[in-house]
Amino acid sequence: MMSVFPTYNRFPLTIQSGEGTVVTDDNNKQYLDFVSGIAVCNLGHRPPAVEQAIQEQLGKVWHVSNLYQIPIQEDAAELLTGPTDLDYVFFCNSGAESNEAAIKLARKHTKKDKIITFKQSFHGRTFATMSATGQEKVHEGFGELLPTFEYLPYNDTEAVAQVNDQKVAAIMVEVIQGEGGVVKGTEQFLQAIQEKCKELGALLIIDEVQTGIGRTGQPFAYQLHNLDPDIVTSAKGLGSGFPVGAMLGKAELAETFNAGSHGSTFGGNPLASAAVKATLQTIFSDQFLQDVQEKGVYFHQQLQKKLLTLSGVKEVRGQGLIIGIEIDEDAIGFIHKLRENGLLAVLAGPRVIRLLPPLNVTREEIDEAISILQKVLEYEKVNLK
Ligand SMILES: *Cc1c(COP(=O)(O)O)cnc(C)c1O
Repeated sequence: MMSVFPTYNRFPLTIQSGEGTVVTDDNNKQYLDFVSGIAVCNLGHRPPAVEQAIQEQLGKVWHVSNLYQIPIQEDAAELLTGPTDLDYVFFCNSGAESNEAAIKLARKHTKKDKIITFKQSFHGRTFATMSATGQEKVHEGFGELLPTFEYLPYNDTEAVAQVNDQKVAAIMVEVIQGEGGVVKGTEQFLQAIQEKCKELGALLIIDEVQTGIGRTGQPFAYQLHNLDPDIVTSAKGLGSGFPVGAMLGKAELAETFNAGSHGSTFGGNPLASAAVKATLQTIFSDQFLQDVQEKGVYFHQQLQKKLLTLSGVKEVRGQGLIIGIEIDEDAIGFIHKLRENGLLAVLAGPRVIRLLPPLNVTREEIDEAISILQKVLEYEKVNLK
């Protein structure tokens, strides 16, 4: 890695191939991938339907620019808004860009500047989305941030109720904080945000970059609650590994995002749109999502039963197939041990082991992952103390 900026702490693992939930490294060792490229490969590695759709599009045209009609982009947008009350989609290439679009749209539409976000949130690494992110370690060293963001404590209903500032353009929130430790927003808290937005004439922006595209057993996690967002952002799982992002919004916002107001050269190009279309045709079906819910319940029950009994395991939380296991010490050592034992997992904050298996993971694979977790957590606890 001598020619790449050292912006990542990389694990000593080179994945050479992947199929479904299983990846193979350069020594031919196999692993169960319960990271899925950080909630990206929601249909596992190289899902045949998506591979075929991209291959078909590869043989037609790859990129034309948004100067021209792109019917497959329209198809993708229709599928994406289908299970929601949102009407339009702006396509971009990442989660940060989708949030960037949301911030610009909210400010232009409301003619107000201030955006409320939450502590321990994560919204991206561009200047605006970094400023939106309520974590000091993300801001460090970059000088003065954009001044119009205010961070409230997450799940603090009272703090939301007390906001009384007519300059608020939007409140932006994750229904489950992913990077912040797999922390679920309470119903009360989320309803307070919804009400406050109505009261102040502010837009409700839900960041579904990690929780969307079926991860919780709903198309989007906000659908677990009685919420009516104006804007929803998506990326990670949207293209099964093809880089693509999207911002969904209500019809009345279309006048604000009119011709020339925002754009992206690559956004929604035919290849990306083919990946999105094939991904959503599979995931946004009732039967598929029902399966995710049932496997999520099973996974949680098994983890509660087999891990919570171990000393040092404090909590198992999450929804559907985004799961956090909080332990009473730094978890990085466990992430290494799990990998050595054939299970890929990732941190969410220093003490939380996060599991993000593909949504089409099998029960057998879940059982195997649990037995590896059990073995590693048990053994390490006994032998390291
Ligand atoms: C990953 C993530 C982002 C940033 O997405 P990128 O594609 O890395 O720009 C934004 N919000 C949430 C909730 C995320 O999990």
